[in-house]
Amino acid sequence: MTIYFATHNQNKVKEIAKLLPDGMELRSLDELNLTEEIPETADTIEGNSLMKTQYVYNKHGVACFGDDTGLEVEVLDGAPGVYSARYAGPQKNSQDNMDLLLSKLEGKASRKARFKTVITYISETGATHQFTGIANGIITETQSGQEGFGYDPIFQPDGFDTTFAEMSAEAKNRISHRAKAFEQLVNYLKQQ
Ligand code: IMP
Repeated sequence: MTIYFATHNQNKVKEIAKLLPDGMELRSLDELNLTEEIPETADTIEGNSLMKTQYVYNKHGVACFGDDTGLEVEVLDGAPGVYSARYAGPQKNSQDNMDLLLSKLEGKASRKARFKTVITYISETGATHQFTGIANGIITETQSGQEGFGYDPIFQPDGFDTTFAEMSAEAKNRISHRAKAFEQLVNYLKQQ
């Protein structure tokens, strides 16, 4: 079976390729000559995940999946959520995003937060399934660590006393929102 990943991010392609069962071949969008940016203009994480995947399916009719992730902060009513990448503006700068979030949390009693990844899978026949992975934690008072990306330096997962950015990629991948959602997708595909 061949499956396409609706992303231009080669790091994500490599990460998931390692997790797929034997007999399943992962292909990237380059192999479909799909080079344009994939639209993600929905106002929910679920909606964006679906939009990215449907874009590839509608153009090429192949079995494919896409993902979308957001950081949801409880005391901010789930913000930045679906707007996580561009929280501080369209330039999508991680440092600006973290600075803005830390300033919004100044003096707040709760710093509870969670990362949510939603993966959408569309089969060759058009059947659609979604899988959700959650990592619960808190937003730290200050940044620490150099690993990872995005909000990793200010997110401390529950049960740990370090941020995601202080963990190795392997350690983060064992507990991350994305890994949990991918695991569900893989289990589903194994049953097919
Ligand atoms: P995407 O949907 O995977 O592109 O994620 C959207 C945005 O959420 C990213 O630009 C990051 O700001 C943030 N994000 C997603 N996953 C992570 C993560 O594992 N750690 C830190 N930030 C993340």
